[in-house]
Amino acid sequence: VAELSERVRALVQPQMRGLEPYDPDFAPCRINLSANENDLGLPAPVRARVDAALRATPTNRYPDPMANELRDEIASWHGVSRANVFVSDGGDEALFDLFLAFGGPGRTLVNCPPTFSVYALYASMLGTTVLDVPRDPETFAPNADELAAAAADAAIVVLTSPNNPTGDVMDPAGVARVCEACPGLVLADEAYGEFAGPGLSSEPLLAAHDNLVVLHTFSKAYCLAGARCGYLLAAPDVVDGLAAVRQPYSVGVLAQAAALAVARERAAFEPLVDEIRSERERLLLEIRALGRALPVRVWPSQANFLLVRVPNASRVRSRLRDERSILVRDFSSAPGLADCLRITVGTREENDELLGALEAILKEES
Ligand code: PMP
Repeated sequence: VAELSERVRALVQPQMRGLEPYDPDFAPCRINLSANENDLGLPAPVRARVDAALRATPTNRYPDPMANELRDEIASWHGVSRANVFVSDGGDEALFDLFLAFGGPGRTLVNCPPTFSVYALYASMLGTTVLDVPRDPETFAPNADELAAAAADAAIVVLTSPNNPTGDVMDPAGVARVCEACPGLVLADEAYGEFAGPGLSSEPLLAAHDNLVVLHTFSKAYCLAGARCGYLLAAPDVVDGLAAVRQPYSVGVLAQAAALAVARERAAFEPLVDEIRSERERLLLEIRALGRALPVRVWPSQANFLLVRVPNASRVRSRLRDERSILVRDFSSAPGLADCLRITVGTREENDELLGALEAILKEES
């Protein structure tokens, strides 16, 4: 990805001069374990419902800006009302709208790195001060005491649970503490929440904490990463604030129709999520077993990916891509993640191939 030209650097807003276009470093591969998508794909009966919904959707009319039909389905799903739901063009748009409405110059966002890079990117684009409360360098556990202290002066605190790319969760008691300490908003990003164990969602806290915002997406468990649809659950006045800053028609009719069909068929995804969770545990044990003879470390995860540390991670990642056509994500140049790769849990066959390839390459490298 190119850096901005000198001309454009002079023309853009000062806080944007150091920015580069977001680059997931994608390369077409036989097995893509790089973006935390659901490799099992839509179950055929759900795909049929989505196709029927798309066929029945006219494209000559603008979408309902607030996606009210989808909002109502999401509201009954989560036991809240329509006024508590904000639908967006992927979770990413919801993050941008949240930071746009509630961040900005003179305000502080508390971030908990290593975490999803988009938070710091959007915050800096919008001129928001970012205060880092780093995770434990060994376990990656967030520091609830420091977060609660930092939250006292924050406009927004972001708590990602399960966290990307470390896979750990922040327990709801810790989230509640931060909500109590924070005069601004607390975002619990639960993009990977479906893959976590029971009782780990912060959603039940919404009723008692009107500064809590919970993010969900159709991109991960629900196989719609390509359709782009996500949503926030929040107090009605927070939803109104987001509605005031959003791009009017950001969620197209096709995305709304697909997400509505999937939301109605949500029960069909439970077996997929169970399979991914059990494959995740199998992968964890197998990589740990490799670690007895080879230099590889893996962290437990409540998400649909695992973080591993190997010597020469960038090289290992390139060899997986070039020699085996297996794509994983390289985090080795991110602060706190030296020599780390993030591997999405794939199908059983994909995971077997990954394990075989990783073992062979690590043997050759050591
Ligand atoms: N939150 C986290 C923690 C993520 O990892 C992602 C996707 N990588 C998102 C939000 C946004 O996902 P999407 O825009 O596909 O909904």
